[in-house]
Order: sequence, then structure tokens, then C-alpha cells
Amino acid sequence: KSFVDYPISDEIKRALTVLKYDTPTEVQSKVLPLALENNDLVVQAQTGSGKTASFGIPITDMIEWLENKPQALILTPTRELAVQVREDVTNIGRFKRIKALAIYGREPFRPQQDALKQKIHVVVGTPGRVLDHIDRGTIALDQIKYLIIDEADEMLNRGFIEQVEAIIDELPTNRVTMVFSATFPKDIEKLCHKYMHEPTHIEI
Ligand code: AMP
Repeated sequence: KSFVDYPISDEIKRALTVLKYDTPTEVQSKVLPLALENNDLVVQAQTGSGKTASFGIPITDMIEWLENKPQALILTPTRELAVQVREDVTNIGRFKRIKALAIYGREPFRPQQDALKQKIHVVVGTPGRVLDHIDRGTIALDQIKYLIIDEADEMLNRGFIEQVEAIIDELPTNRVTMVFSATFPKDIEKLCHKYMHEPTHIEI
């Protein structure tokens, strides 16, 4: 099966062609059909598997361009990953003119605050800084429809799980949640159980 066979918009397919993504990777072929039907997903996948596009494609496909507030929140354990994911999402959503913003710590707050006042469809961020924006009232979360927790086991290793939970508590409950992790220690299983709605488990 190639990407042309999936029920995704022509703008996204065109972007995948430009990126030279012809055939879905294993994680993409397992995640895409379920994600496009708005299922909560727990995905065991490594870096390099194509996991970013497996959530980047359904998110960019489903974003309503006219909505000015963020519709998807992607949490990453590091700023490097946030920057990379923002770039991938921007590339996949380029012909839909999807606006994605990365927010992370050890950077001035104000430019991020100003950027969040613009039209932003997708926010990619590290937990501490996302929580700072929540506490200061500088991020709108009431239109969030998709939450992605990327590299959840790394969040745990870095002691970010409490912050992740505090963020989830601020999100609309009527949303799709996807958790990606290379391993599933007990605390991640617990997080999934607590915050997800009958998730489907996918192993690569
Ligand atoms: P990731 O695991 O998301 O970091 O992706 C690993 C690498 O695979 C990245 O450089 C992607 O650009 C690339 N990639 C992702 N999906 C595909 C695909 N379907 N075909 C070819 N390359 C891909």
C-alpha cells in the first residue's frame, strides 16, 4: 500500500511526494488507519521508525485551517526533538499552510508569548515551558483536539511525568491522545490508563 491509498487530503499527499515518502513505514501503516478514525493509541516504536510522520500526517490532515487557536499539542522531552518535530509537521502540512510552533525552556519567554498570539495550529513543546505558559495564561488550550506524548519513557527518565500530568489536566477531555514510547515502564502504563480512552496498543 502506498500513501495515495490512504484517505488523506491531496495537500498532504503532495507534501509526502515532495518529502519522497512513497511507502508508509511499518509504524505508519499500523498507526495511520486507526489515527485517521480518531482512536486513542499507545505505540511502542523507536526513533528512526518514522513515528513522527505517523502522528504528523493525521494531525495535519485533520487540522481546521480557519481555527486560530492551537488544535494539537505535542509534548517532547527535549528541545532538540521539539524543533525536529515542529519542522516535520511544518513540512507535512506545508500545502495546507499549517502553522506549527516549538516552545521550550532556557529561551526568553516573551518571543514565545508573542508567537502564541499569532495563528498557530500545532504547538510542540517541552513540559516545563508549556506549563509556564499555562501558568501565565499565555497559551490557549480550549481548542486542543489532539495530544501527542512523544518519547514518554524519556519524559519519565527526566522526571517530567508530574508536569505532563499537570498539562493534561488543563486540556479538553474530548480529544484524541497518542502516546509514543520505546519502552513501557509501569509509570507510563499508569499514565496511559489514567488519561486515555480505551486505547489501542500497537507494537512494532
Ligand atoms: P522518525 O522516526 O520520525 O524520526 O523518522 C526517521 C526518518 O525517516 C526521518 O528522516 C524521516 O524523514 C524519514 N521517513 C519517515 N517516514 C518515511 C517514509 N514513509 N518514507 C521514507 N522516509 C521516511
